[in-house]
Amino acid sequence: MNDQIKAVEHFTDVMAKFTAYFGKHLPDDVMAKLQELRAEQDTPMAGIIYDTMFRDMALADELNRPMCQDTGVIQYFVEVGENFPLLGKLQACLTEATKRATVAAPLRHNAVQIFEEKNSGNNTGRRIPWIEWDIIPDSDECTIHGYMAGGGCSLPGAAKVLMPVEGYEGVVKFIFDIMVERGINACPPVLVGVGIAGSAEVASMLSKKALMRPIGTHNPSPRGAELERMLEDGLNKLNIGPGGLTGKKSVMGVNIEDAARHPSCLAVGLSVGCWAHRRACIKFNADLTYEMISHKGVTL
Ligand code: SF4
Repeated sequence: MNDQIKAVEHFTDVMAKFTAYFGKHLPDDVMAKLQELRAEQDTPMAGIIYDTMFRDMALADELNRPMCQDTGVIQYFVEVGENFPLLGKLQACLTEATKRATVAAPLRHNAVQIFEEKNSGNNTGRRIPWIEWDIIPDSDECTIHGYMAGGGCSLPGAAKVLMPVEGYEGVVKFIFDIMVERGINACPPVLVGVGIAGSAEVASMLSKKALMRPIGTHNPSPRGAELERMLEDGLNKLNIGPGGLTGKKSVMGVNIEDAARHPSCLAVGLSVGCWAHRRACIKFNADLTYEMISHKGVTL
């Protein structure tokens, strides 16, 4: 086996283990937030919901099984250096890693081909796993965010181009209208990702990228960070509560990502992550040694 083939096999093996792992273990920031929210509850029903979540997570760890039956559609958000040695092989590696994780974890089969309406049976299909690329100049490293997009938490997803006169008040109204109508489908408490841009597809993808940002981090603009806080406070007042059964706090956080817009258009996108927010982040060096960023101290 030459060095390139060995490197591809090693990288694929690590990514398969990574993908199987994050279906069973939540990232450190989500765990910390759920513990914080659990401690704040003051009704028996809310307490029962949180106790059930934590028992579910303990059993997933003990029995080495996914924590939710819906292991979602696999998505990867790749930040790859222009000099990373496997740059040209990444797509094939990540597709193979998804197939292997589907068997090893195991993951539910969730990739249904459009038009054929046939489940591929291995979580891959046309453009799935979905891969988003950022190429980083002067770097030989590769950071990959993995995400399981479940059905319930994908249901509130939406995007709209507003008339500019609607302003940021229109952005807020759009988010509240959807969260009131569909937030309950996403197994609260939820993480809310918002994209603000000049067109629907940019706003939509930024809203999903916002879900990759750790809870407790903020938009770099002070105004963006203020809007995050205001939205979080407002959504928490809806009294949706854990499991949608009422109670204190409905969201784990609101993350906003933005892109400069056309003067005539203001677009907003919304993506939602459920309490079982299965995302993970891994960073590879050029020699393919790695560090788990999202789950500190974990070796795959
Ligand atoms: S919304 Fe999340 S926790 Fe609820 S069923 Fe879907 S994947 Fe599972």
